[in-house]
Amino acid sequence: MTINKYSTQFIDNIDISAVKKSLTSEYITQGTYNKIFEQNLSKHTKSKYSLVLNSATSALHVACLSLNLKKNDIVWTSVNSFVASSNCALYCGAKVDFIDIDINTFNISIEFFKQKLKKAKKNKTLPKIVIVVHIGGNPCDMKEIKNLSKKYNFKVIEDASHALGASYKNSLIGSCEYSDISIFSYYPVKMITTGEGGSLHTNNKNIFKKASMLRSHGITKNVRSPTTKKFENWYYEQIYLGFNYRMSDINASLGISQLKKLDKFLRKRNLLANEYNKLFDLNKYVNYQKIEKNNLSSYHLYILMINENSEVNNYQLMEYLSKFKIGTQLHYLPIHLQPYYKKLGFRKGDFLNAEKYSRKALSIPLNFHMRLKDIRFISNKINKYFGI
Ligand SMILES: *Cc1c(COP(=O)(O)O)cnc(C)c1O
Repeated sequence: MTINKYSTQFIDNIDISAVKKSLTSEYITQGTYNKIFEQNLSKHTKSKYSLVLNSATSALHVACLSLNLKKNDIVWTSVNSFVASSNCALYCGAKVDFIDIDINTFNISIEFFKQKLKKAKKNKTLPKIVIVVHIGGNPCDMKEIKNLSKKYNFKVIEDASHALGASYKNSLIGSCEYSDISIFSYYPVKMITTGEGGSLHTNNKNIFKKASMLRSHGITKNVRSPTTKKFENWYYEQIYLGFNYRMSDINASLGISQLKKLDKFLRKRNLLANEYNKLFDLNKYVNYQKIEKNNLSSYHLYILMINENSEVNNYQLMEYLSKFKIGTQLHYLPIHLQPYYKKLGFRKGDFLNAEKYSRKALSIPLNFHMRLKDIRFISNKINKYFGI
């Protein structure tokens, strides 16, 4: 049950009571639960402003618009991510390009990034926004990224969908110490869940104000009525073309309850991942994700990559593991190879590291329900497959 999927949510009776309680409160959307969840997230991430939305995809869209992304502007993101990381730019009519990954960290390669920026400067095709992704919860090199953003004048969004609870050096992911905006996802398999949901974090008041309006139809209530010249409960004005990207209080109540368990989730995931690491150190045919010193991964995923010592491809190992009801998944098929993106002009061969990764990497089970003996069972099967 706990190892037949690469991940699954953990919901207990405390969560269930919390949601029940929310159902009988005066408001079931945009009430006190939304506010409390936002306050708790700000406290947790140490970001000044937090905004909860109905998904991380919505949060990414609103993030791009809040940074004034316009038609024909350019956005770069990691080619190894979920499609939402780049779709948000297309929603705004912007153009998308990708950065290839580092084959050890599975995050964007800073070397490739630098080369690409140099070239783009010459060609006058520098990005307005770069969306970095902490894959599996492994923090990107944010200091380098921030320095580059100053040198080449682009904004930084952290797609931290995987990384709630992770930290980069002494800085929590979500604090926005090295970025303009960070976003999280509360989709069931992520670090904590609200069913569907996401959040946006920033330290910039103007970004927050615009994002808040965009979440709810581009409307503000912070204006005086022209008839009474006063702030009125019933009076609002639409300033932007916004959306209904609101989170309900029912979902927020689950989020508040889940956030209290984050430290527990984080400790368990790190404990289990370290056990995997230890056991895979015995296997010269596989590498696990490299976490840089002084960083803490949230370990949303445990990603294994078959290395050059073996001809085996990931789907073969996946098939073998499925015989033992061990569920695995590839995170991700490179975005540029999705049929929709191929139609935009991307081709096989454009991002070789990510393409190799997509043939050799797989996410193996890691979730809060698992025990050390599950880790030993799975790594044993994998090591045996390679004759170890
Ligand atoms: C899950 C995920 C998203 C989208 O999250 P939703 O809340 O489902 O919209 C975006 N980016 C990455 C990297 C993700 O893993």
